[in-house]
Amino acid sequence: MKFLYFIFMFTGFLVYADVNISDLQNSDLWKKKSSGNIIFYTKVEDFKIPVLCFHKIGDQERYEITSTKFEQFLIFLNENNFFPISDKDYLNNDFSMVPSGKKPIVLGSDDASEGNFILKTRDSNSFTGNVDLTVTTPKLEEESMVYLLEKYLPKVQGKINFTFYTSFNGVPFRQTGGTTSFGENYRDIPIVGYKLNYLIDNFYIGIHTVTHPITVNSTPDSFKWELDEFYRILESYVGDKISLINTLAYPYGCGTLKPEMENMIRNYNYKNYSIIGAFDFDGLFTKSVVSKSVNKFDISRLGVDNKNIESVYNFLKKVKLITSERVIAVGSRDELNSIDINDKDILVVGHS
Ligand SMILES: [Zn+2]
Repeated sequence: MKFLYFIFMFTGFLVYADVNISDLQNSDLWKKKSSGNIIFYTKVEDFKIPVLCFHKIGDQERYEITSTKFEQFLIFLNENNFFPISDKDYLNNDFSMVPSGKKPIVLGSDDASEGNFILKTRDSNSFTGNVDLTVTTPKLEEESMVYLLEKYLPKVQGKINFTFYTSFNGVPFRQTGGTTSFGENYRDIPIVGYKLNYLIDNFYIGIHTVTHPITVNSTPDSFKWELDEFYRILESYVGDKISLINTLAYPYGCGTLKPEMENMIRNYNYKNYSIIGAFDFDGLFTKSVVSKSVNKFDISRLGVDNKNIESVYNFLKKVKLITSERVIAVGSRDELNSIDINDKDILVVGHS
């Protein structure tokens, strides 16, 4: 452990490396976030940041990735200094949880499709087989994304930074758990309720509409119905926890986002809940939201599948990406216990 400490109780002009303490107050250079007694300063940067989108687990070239390749991808992230942040943190330009020297990356999966989240069944049919939901923690299939994410990614503030953009144009996660009759748009399925609550508590859920329409062909009115109905169905499963749902991934991407559609989404609310940003599917890396070129309601994402995974690795190695630079100011060392810090973070101890 070789943390560098310095005290600025009696002076405001100490300099360490290329960080000038007085610069920390300049919001063009450093983003400040207070959390209890701790103040995080993260350097404001205009480089790219990958927002990646998966779909199914499977062998097909497009829109599927084998569980082996998905596992290798998570190992690659850990070995190459990537640090997943949530889509919300990205939209809030909040890199406060990213240790210095790590590269923030945003991860998610669309469609609540096959292989995202599979519980072990009592017989060999994982689609229709019975699942015992009375036990505290039903077992996960080892090939499923949720199992692998929990195996390889850290929990940050109690959750794993990965968003499941859920739609209801099929049984979410394609597992009925033995139920044979469903309410409209897949309401009232116990195993779906279990999974959606589990994901809200341990990961993130985003909106991917109810019927998965082609966004560019949708009117603001029809798309608004998709959002309303999404919230209503999700609410029937998770109740008040829908307050946590505020990000959207457009089905089939949004193409050139129409102003009337953007206005509707910017002003949208269900009860008191609104949408803070929305993601396209255009095959590009975005920049941080401080960049003038970024529209929070049209964020670039790159799909990852069996066909392009090798080129995704190449992009991740070669493109100039944001790398976290962080200064953490605390009153005393004890306050650092709950934070994942590394030896590149600059710690200011003794501020008042
Ligand atoms: Zn989709």
